[in-house]
Amino acid sequence: MVFAIFGTCVDTPEFGEVRGLHEPTLVVVSSGCIQSLYRGRAAEESRKTLENQGVSVRVLHASEILVPGFIDTHIHFPQFPFTGAGIDKPLMGDDGFLVKYAFPTEESMSDLAIARSVYNAGLETLLRHGTTSALIFASIHCQASKELVDAAIRNRGPRAFVGKVCVDRHCPDSYIETTETSINETEDFINYTQARAAEAGHSPPYLVQPVVTPRFLPTCTAELLAGLSQLAERYKCIIQSHMSESIDEVEFSSALFEGKTDAEVFSDFGLLRAPSVMAHCVQMKCTEEDLLRDSGAAIAHCPLSNFFFASGALPVKQLISRGIKVGLGTDVAGGYSPSMLSSMRAAVLASKTLHFQYLPGAVQSSVGGLSVGAKEKESSKEQDDLSHFDALYLATMGGAASLGLQDLLGSFEEGKRFDAVLLTQVSTALSFVCRHDSREDLLQKILTLGDDRNVKEVFVDGQSVYSQP
Ligand SMILES: [Zn+2]
Repeated sequence: MVFAIFGTCVDTPEFGEVRGLHEPTLVVVSSGCIQSLYRGRAAEESRKTLENQGVSVRVLHASEILVPGFIDTHIHFPQFPFTGAGIDKPLMGDDGFLVKYAFPTEESMSDLAIARSVYNAGLETLLRHGTTSALIFASIHCQASKELVDAAIRNRGPRAFVGKVCVDRHCPDSYIETTETSINETEDFINYTQARAAEAGHSPPYLVQPVVTPRFLPTCTAELLAGLSQLAERYKCIIQSHMSESIDEVEFSSALFEGKTDAEVFSDFGLLRAPSVMAHCVQMKCTEEDLLRDSGAAIAHCPLSNFFFASGALPVKQLISRGIKVGLGTDVAGGYSPSMLSSMRAAVLASKTLHFQYLPGAVQSSVGGLSVGAKEKESSKEQDDLSHFDALYLATMGGAASLGLQDLLGSFEEGKRFDAVLLTQVSTALSFVCRHDSREDLLQKILTLGDDRNVKEVFVDGQSVYSQP
């Protein structure tokens, strides 16, 4: 089926570049793919031609803006039930977030009825918030993880890149696997998911894909990491894990792996490559940055949960300028919101904290103790501050590049799959709308103030998979 959309269609093909704010765009979609795309006067003319040919052209209202579908590069589906709780805890330790909240809730996914209910609700929640692709941690349970794959196919989205979580040490007795079981069930899960993707008849990038998922270094032995690396290589899978997240995690990992950094360990086992997506990376050393860049691995930036667990903010802009790929994640439930709009504004806020150390009151304080002039302050702002449009890049093209899907998703280009979100200003959160708002102001308002009420319709692979009731 062929259809077209005409109006304000905004995307960010490169970091720092925004298109579509000042002229109309015509996107022509056929068989889930962007068949052709016109901007400005060519869009006006082609619209008339298509209408004369009887092609359905949807003309967007002045209050509506189409953007590429959001790509959440880090989310824990089993953790939805305790969203909003536990974020006052440290990550590690007997009274920490993992032991008190994450592990027990994930363990409950062994009950398939619970898993089905949580996973279906999670998928619907993501679509309602405009997320069209998600890189997902499931639990250690193979069967429950298969349920998530099936649910994503049934729902026709979001695209679900699912990892059966692997752990073989330092977990509760009731939520742990042997090394052999972890590797065997991961292989079973990969075979199942790849077969289901093929049966479902989609073309790449498939609606579902298996992801090799060592949880993080403290819960994985060297034997498990080696086995998972072989599977990722054999089946050409995306890899995901957590890396250099918090001070306590980094210390624990280093003690387990002969004083090495997280990146060195992942690299040694062949788990740092393209596409590997490592969540957080806030506590990285310079040598770890080099390993990431040289390997082509990406960072899933989780600004909201970093405020609670990471004891730092990721210098996103500097990392991108040094050639490292960065996508954006919600990190439910370390992050309390499943909304990528929320993650975008958290990314903007987190970037602002990076130059707090240069404020006059910070001189001789514990946050840096630097005595610097106005020039340095401005220089730090320039190299660190993210705009809302930079955050939109992270949530779309940044995510696509992190997953190795930059040629298929993340922006409006001929030949790419049509995954998109129709945003609208009409909602109670945006009741103070000025008639003279520019397109730029309107989009910034939605990114700053918006929530699921501003998501009017969502498309995955050219199909409308959610629209506001
Ligand atoms: Zn996580």
